[in-house]
Amino acid sequence: MKNTHTAPSELSVQDAQACILGKIRPLAPEEIPLSQTLGRALAEDVRANRDLPPYNTSAMDGYAARAADIAAPPQILNVIEDIKAGDTPRLALQPGQCARIMTGAPLPQGADTVIRVEDTRPLDETHVEFPIPVKQGTDIRLQGEAMRTGDVVLNVGEEITPGTVGTLATVKHATVKVFRKPRVAILSNGDELEALDDPFNPQKIPDANSYALMAQTQSLGIEPALLGIARDTPNALATLLKRGLGYDVLLISGGTSVGVHDHVRPTLATISVEMHFWCVKMRPGHPVAFGTIGNTLVFCLPGNPVSSMVCFEQFVLPALRALMGHRRLLRRTLPVRLTQAVKSKQGRVEFIRATLSRDASEGYYQATPTASQSSGNIRSMASADVLAIVPNDSGGLTAESITQAQLLEGAAFQ
Ligand code: AMP
Ligand code: MG
Repeated sequence: MKNTHTAPSELSVQDAQACILGKIRPLAPEEIPLSQTLGRALAEDVRANRDLPPYNTSAMDGYAARAADIAAPPQILNVIEDIKAGDTPRLALQPGQCARIMTGAPLPQGADTVIRVEDTRPLDETHVEFPIPVKQGTDIRLQGEAMRTGDVVLNVGEEITPGTVGTLATVKHATVKVFRKPRVAILSNGDELEALDDPFNPQKIPDANSYALMAQTQSLGIEPALLGIARDTPNALATLLKRGLGYDVLLISGGTSVGVHDHVRPTLATISVEMHFWCVKMRPGHPVAFGTIGNTLVFCLPGNPVSSMVCFEQFVLPALRALMGHRRLLRRTLPVRLTQAVKSKQGRVEFIRATLSRDASEGYYQATPTASQSSGNIRSMASADVLAIVPNDSGGLTAESITQAQLLEGAAFQ
């Protein structure tokens, strides 16, 4: 069969992202145990169900006192009580008195200041000297200072981080309403491909994309289904593509370009997938295409392993995060200084695989392009920390240029 390829109308990366995100609403909410929520997005506002602290407490180990009593140091006060966290103070402070108090313990009545133990001189069990003045209110945590009953402490769409989990535990949410995760299927395409469990054949090309895309999906907390390898015939493709349409998101790599054996887009058309764009002004990743059928999103990623991964980062990742209800959709970017000149093709954004290093004397991270920038060389993704962005109108950047770089998974460590 011969493919008919009309001239593609190329979009910019931003317009392609907008096209995709314009078709996405968060998936339905579900209620799951707190222990399973890391990386998900909240589907509800969360409110405090008590004041914290529940009463005025000490922020330090030291002495609770009346500021007026130690306004003219040195002053010696009588220690009338020991108060630990969890105790209830029995006595109210009278002039000339103080109480030994531990961090988190409730303040006794009459006390308006805490003096940390390092700023005191204990004389004996019941007497302590205060050699320096301390401002009224020092080292007291006021009731409700951290949260007040009824306060919204977390908002819908917020990413659940370890800090969020701690906050949810603080307001006693044993279960949490989050947006459902998308079900993702991954399909590779090409007669030349050898599956991971196929016998070794040096004439074949090992299927890297199924697994790289799997790992990129897993990095968002989603366990995808691998549908395997579709061979380069429309029938073989149609069978597996139809299976893929039972998922929320189908990722297909290979066969989306202009070769006569690139059957993916024509075959999608025969099974009623509506294509919204084909070809984006970027490199690597130019032949990427996107379609929908019902609520299923279909991404046709280029076969070259680097192209497929770079397109995942630009298009699939924000789509999956939007489906999961996240508000922050894109990887963080940071300005970097290029250690080498990089070339780019006029009219296309170039994503340069680069490693980051930091010269302590410098304000910027340095980005060094990986040895190979071939879109066929998966090792350039293995060693990269970032995708350094060469804008589409630059025609390349000189060494020492400052440019934006997108962090890749794992780049937060040094
Ligand atoms: P295609 O997009 O099908 O024209 O493929 C472009 C290049 O990517 C060819 O060299 C393919 O052999 C290679 N390729 C396609 N799919 C994969 C895959 N799943 N894993 C590794 N390389 C692939
Ligand atoms: Mg192919």
